Amino acid sequence: MLAADTTNADLDLLAQVSQMLTELDRNRVLEKVIDLTANAVGAERATLLLHPQYDDDWRQIFFRNFIEASAIPSVLDREQSIRMAQRAMTDGLAGWVLRHQEGAIVYDTATDDRWRVFPDSESGARSALCVPFLYAGQSLAVLTLIHRQPNHFDERHLRLMMIVANQATVALRNAQLFNRLMDQQRQLEAVMHAIPDILIALDHEGQIMVANEAASAFLNVDGDMQNIAGRMLSDYMHLDNTLWAILDVVSDANAGQIGHVFETRSERERRDFLVTVSPWRSDRAEKSAHVIVMRDVSNLRDLNRFKDEMFKLLSHDLRSPLALIVGYCSLVELDAPPDSPILDYVAAMQKASSRMKGMLDDLMKVEKIRSSPVEMNEQVEMAELVAEAVGNGQMNTDAKRQTLTSDVQLEGVPSLAINRALVQESLENYIHNASKYTPEGGRIRVRAWVEREEGRVYVVVEDNGMGIPKEAQSQLFQSFYRVRSPGFENTDGRGLGLSLVKTIMERHFGGVWVESELGEGSRFGLWLPLTH
Ligand code: ADP
Repeated sequence: MLAADTTNADLDLLAQVSQMLTELDRNRVLEKVIDLTANAVGAERATLLLHPQYDDDWRQIFFRNFIEASAIPSVLDREQSIRMAQRAMTDGLAGWVLRHQEGAIVYDTATDDRWRVFPDSESGARSALCVPFLYAGQSLAVLTLIHRQPNHFDERHLRLMMIVANQATVALRNAQLFNRLMDQQRQLEAVMHAIPDILIALDHEGQIMVANEAASAFLNVDGDMQNIAGRMLSDYMHLDNTLWAILDVVSDANAGQIGHVFETRSERERRDFLVTVSPWRSDRAEKSAHVIVMRDVSNLRDLNRFKDEMFKLLSHDLRSPLALIVGYCSLVELDAPPDSPILDYVAAMQKASSRMKGMLDDLMKVEKIRSSPVEMNEQVEMAELVAEAVGNGQMNTDAKRQTLTSDVQLEGVPSLAINRALVQESLENYIHNASKYTPEGGRIRVRAWVEREEGRVYVVVEDNGMGIPKEAQSQLFQSFYRVRSPGFENTDGRGLGLSLVKTIMERHFGGVWVESELGEGSRFGLWLPLTH
C-alpha cells in the first residue's frame, strides 16, 4: 500500500517498474531494478545478490557505483561473486534480511550491529537499505543500497523499495521461466535433430508444431524449420502415399489414447517405413494431439524378403529328406525288440521330425497363400463367420476356464466376397492366441463392426492376458517371430500364425494391427474392405 506522502516521482518509478514486467532477459531486469531504485532513493552504491535456482550458492551478480559518472555495473567473476555473497549472507545485513524475510533500514552503520565493516571494504557506508525479493516463501534475491551519510534512507524509501521488489520478483520469475522454457526448447530441438528417423509433432488439429531435419527433407521443405511449423500435415498429403495412412490414424476419433504402429511403403521414395503414431494430450484441447515417428526399415524388409526366399527354398528341399527320416523311423520301430531302448530314441526322433514337418507345412501354406491366386468368390455373411469362429474357439477357452464373449454389430452389412476358410482361420488364429497367451480364468472378447464411410468391416479380438512389449509389436506379424515372456516360455507354437493372418488379409486387400500393454492384455485387429 502506498503511503499518503507518495510523490509523483514515486508513481513515475512504479510505472517504470511495471513496464519492466514485460522484459524477459534476467540480467536486464536486474540492471534496470538497480538503476531505477538507486536513482529514486538517491543511493550511492547498490549490490544485488541472486539465488540461482539450480545452484546452491548465492552470488553477487551486480555491483553498481553511482558516485562517479562512469558508474560501471560489474558482474563479478564466479568465484569472487560467490565469496562476496557468502560473506554478506553469514555476517552482513543481507543475511539478516534473508533470515527475517523482511526489508531493513540501517540509519547509522556505526551504531547498528546488523552492519559489518569488512576490512577490504572501501564503501564508507553510513546508512543502508536492504530488501529481499520473495517468491512463494523463498528469497530469490537481495538488494542493498548504501549511502555515505547517516540517516539517508527513511521508512518511505523502504516501503517504496518493497513494492519495487515485489514487482521485480514477478519480472524475475517470468524471465526465469522464459529462459528455462527456451532452454528446454533448444534441448528438444537438439534431440530431435540428432534423431535420424522422421519425427513430426502435431497439435490436436493436425497442425505441425515441430519437425526435425529428416522430416523436412521428407516433406520437401528447404532450410528453416520455421517453414514447416504451423502448416497442416494434410497440406503435404499429395506428396507421399504414406501420409494418407498417417492422416487416417490421426483423424480417427476412435484412435483415442493408444498408439498405432504399422508398416507402409512410400511409392515415391521406394522406401519402407515403420510408422509409430503416439497420442499426447495437451491441456488446451479435448482431442488428442500426435507425435509421428517414421523409421526407414527398407534394409530390414529386404532382409526379411531374403529370409522368406531362403525359407521357401529350404522348405522345398527339406521335405524329401524329412519324409525319408520319418519312413526309416517307422521301419526301425517295426524291427526293434519290444523292450529295446531304441524304441524311445525312435519316438524322440519321430516327435522332432513331426514338429519339423509341421513347421514346413505351415511355411508352405503361408507361401502358397502369398504367391498363388486366392479364390474369393464366396459370398460370406461376416456375422455368421464370426459366430462360427467364436464357437470353435470355445473349446480352448473352456479348457482354461476363460470367458469368451462376442459383440457383433454387423446388421445390414452386405455379404463379402472372400475366401471363407482362410478368413475364418485368421480369426480363429487370433482367438486361439488370445486364449493361449492369457492365463486361466482370463477374459476374451470378440468385437465386429462396420465403418461405412471407410467402407470397412473390422473384427477385433481383445484379451486381458500377458500383453506384448512395445518393441516386439512391430515384428509380431513376421514369420517365426515369437516373444519369450516369463511364464509363457513353454507355450507351444511356431511363430507362423500371425504371419498367416497378415498374408491372408493382404490377399483380401485388408489389413491387420495390434495394440497391447505388457501385463494388461492385447487387442489384435483385422479389417476387410466391403468391396474390392
Ligand atoms: P505362435 O505359434 O508362437 O503363437 P503366432 O504367429 O501366432 O505364433 O504369434 C507370434 C507371437 O506373438 C507369439 O509367440 C506370442 O509371443 C505373440 N502373441 C500372439 N498373440 C498374442 C496375444 N493374444 N497375447 C500375447 N502375445 C501374443
